[in-house]
Amino acid sequence: MTRQQLTILGCTGSIGVSTLDVVRRHPERYGVFALCAHSQVDKLFAQCLEFSPRFAVVRDARLADQLATRLRQAGLPTEVRHGVESLVAMAAAPEADAVMAAIVGAAGLEPTLAAVRAGKKVLLANKEALVMAGELFMAAVRASGSILLPVDSEHNAIFQSLPANFGRGLAACGVRRILLTASGGPFRRTPIGALAAVTPEAACAHPNWVMGRKISVDSATMMNKGLEVIEAHWLFACPPERIQVVVHPQSVIHSLVDYEDGSILAQLGNPDMRTPIAHALAYPERIDSGVEPLDLFKVARLDFESPDFERFPCLQLAYDALRTGGTAPAILNAANEVAVQAFLDRRLSFLGIARLIAATLAGLPAGAEGSLADVLAADAEARQLAGRLIHDQRVQ
Ligand code: NAD
Ligand code: MG
Repeated sequence: MTRQQLTILGCTGSIGVSTLDVVRRHPERYGVFALCAHSQVDKLFAQCLEFSPRFAVVRDARLADQLATRLRQAGLPTEVRHGVESLVAMAAAPEADAVMAAIVGAAGLEPTLAAVRAGKKVLLANKEALVMAGELFMAAVRASGSILLPVDSEHNAIFQSLPANFGRGLAACGVRRILLTASGGPFRRTPIGALAAVTPEAACAHPNWVMGRKISVDSATMMNKGLEVIEAHWLFACPPERIQVVVHPQSVIHSLVDYEDGSILAQLGNPDMRTPIAHALAYPERIDSGVEPLDLFKVARLDFESPDFERFPCLQLAYDALRTGGTAPAILNAANEVAVQAFLDRRLSFLGIARLIAATLAGLPAGAEGSLADVLAADAEARQLAGRLIHDQRVQ
């Protein structure tokens, strides 16, 4: 068997590390072509020692020099590159068969889109890229013949619960609704009055999943589910009114598809991202992911609730941005990224996150999605306005 060569964008993050753990179990199947990180040089160096990639990428020239020196001293031939152009080059390189898109946030858009345009097999964790530029992203998938495999656990579950030819349209496949499960995050039962004072530490303590800080805060506000509604819309060409969020606190059912004949198909498993990662890596085959088999007797019960849109206004903001269309989801995403960072830096309250996003959307008219440049311009404008609203303390 020829080994599949991988570019991993965001190799030092939660998804990147889980991806390498699956790769480690299958050295005969996967080789690492490029490891792309941002600033965690120590972690990247250790990964290079273990996986001997052809290339390693970091943020800037200074970090690249540091890493190159250490690699040389260790006798490794890995070449070091830096900057966004290098991320794009690694994503589109002819030697890369598959690209794991696991950079967090808007920073992942350009390299992920480059992988799609180059016709790669793209394993998509970086949901923000699709949220920002869904229309041109999916048009690029169709134009290049790229195989897009969702890694987000819910979308991976939906993908597994749909027929292989779902691309001809969900209605033609007899799909009534997509049921997108959500854990409800750490504040599902917190008294509403106490939400104003929650800390970044409390927001990042997710009951079921261990993840990066940004997505952990998104889970606490349920903006993560809002972004996932938009992600599901684009991945499966599903109208918003056919995407239903279902709060399921155990996080064992990763999502479901409801069919016209009354059948509901679902994918279940332990909440461990190595399952969807292994599924996407090996698709259409199946490989060991290292995840424990699900013990249904230990799970014992599965609960479901409808989402509380009052407690979680971000969910409504996301549905509204999807219905508005054009650059509204890009504006929503950019404002959210600014808000989450400000919350983590203790410059904005937890409830201020939704207020800031609403104020940013209200302050900027959504244009047509247009080209990548239009999307990036909307992203920049939204970041500027959101930053100003915080700075002027118009949103707190
Ligand atoms: P993380 O914060 O743990 O890791 C982010 C990675 O991106 C790191 O390797 C970091 O070096 C890199 N990065 C950050 N900014 C960058 C920049 N400007 N340029 C280049 N690289 C940069 O995040 P994560 O939890 O692994 O999430 C990654 C993506 O996967 C996010 O889009 C998230 O929504 C999605 N996702 C994560 C999970 C999860 O369980 N962690 C589940 C589903 C989806
Ligand atoms: Mg998810």
